[in-house]
Amino acid sequence: MRIAMISEHASPLAILGGEDAGGQNTHVAELSAALADAGHDVRVYTRRDAVDLPVTVRSPDGYDVVHVPAGPAEPVAKDALLPHMKEFSRWLVDRWRGGDWVPEVVHAHFWMSGLAALTASRQTGVPVVQTYHALGTVKRRHQGVQDTSPARRIAYERELGRSVDRVVAQCQDEVGELVRMGVPRSRMTVIPSGVNLTTFAPLGPAADREPGRARILTVGRLVERKGFQTVIRAMTLVPDAECVVVGGPPAGLLETDPYARRLRALAESCGVADRVRLVGAVPREEMGRWYRSADVLVAAPWYEPFGLTPLEAMACGVPVIGTAVGGLKDTVVEGVTGDLVPARDPRALGTAIQRLLDDRMRRFAYATTAQERARLRYSWAATAERLAEVYGEVAAVRRPSRVVA
Ligand code: UDP
Repeated sequence: MRIAMISEHASPLAILGGEDAGGQNTHVAELSAALADAGHDVRVYTRRDAVDLPVTVRSPDGYDVVHVPAGPAEPVAKDALLPHMKEFSRWLVDRWRGGDWVPEVVHAHFWMSGLAALTASRQTGVPVVQTYHALGTVKRRHQGVQDTSPARRIAYERELGRSVDRVVAQCQDEVGELVRMGVPRSRMTVIPSGVNLTTFAPLGPAADREPGRARILTVGRLVERKGFQTVIRAMTLVPDAECVVVGGPPAGLLETDPYARRLRALAESCGVADRVRLVGAVPREEMGRWYRSADVLVAAPWYEPFGLTPLEAMACGVPVIGTAVGGLKDTVVEGVTGDLVPARDPRALGTAIQRLLDDRMRRFAYATTAQERARLRYSWAATAERLAEVYGEVAAVRRPSRVVA
């Protein structure tokens, strides 16, 4: 099939770890690669955020990335992108009406991509599949006044859910949230993200580590809701281990990053600064080395729409201690592949980490089943196959009357 992906702020070619670059970028890159590998013709449309970007770049993974002129050709925070979505969709309509390449389906990632896709769809008849990646209702609940999303986000998300051809939710928790928002269950299909089983495997090089000291790894964009403060506080209950934090700006810019400075100050005040190390952003292809160097991956978000990092660790055969939120409740099987603890509870987290470090056999059992679960249930090839079925279904419904070539 000819498949258009729209990922307005998250380019599959971006460097990860920064404030707006994380799971969605990985998801779009891996999904597009898996679909291309299965023989589909995939184009990813993302906003042009630098003047020197060519319109189309061929990814080595067999799909095209198209840089759409919408707003200034420079980085813009995703919460400021809404005013540029009309321009984005107009550009798509011009292209698709021009007829050189007309998609049979468009898969929108994040709500603003959904708006651009839906507007373009209304003029071209191309059916829309929507994946939210994150929901405004959940963000508002947890971040309150600190949530900088546009005021109409939640209303737009509800409207999208009722208007697109299919919503693809990534976990059961998201289904519940969407139903509470008023999106009918009948419009949804649950298809989880996958994990790259070649990059993330138990065998392979591992990052250096200090002999005789256990390593707790935690990974993510350096934003408050990822719960790094809880992890640092928990380290007071885990006296013989080090905590490595991967993610954030590149290492050279960590010194000036306000949140990194707060984490360092917190580690000082908790008396664990000598055992907490901030590494900064790590290129995607080097992530496996970091996971493999760890005894335990800790993921302590306040909320998490899916959460790729626990799954990546599992695929590397690393047990996970996570908070019982969002996608982690589906990926981590309590007492089988890892442990789940309440969010924002350093005592529960620290106790669970120390208990696992004290129990070698339990770690070994978790590691084995975690790796097996990732391999059997979360390959990108399987995710792409299930999505391709959905694309086929929505295209078949639309094809007879509405597609304007
Ligand atoms: N990641 C990376 N380098 C970093 C930090 C993170 O490549 O320095 C990747 C990580 O391997 C994962 C993604 O960024 O693929 C983060 O996805 P996740 O779903 O855990 O969190 P999100 O960023 O979507 O909130």
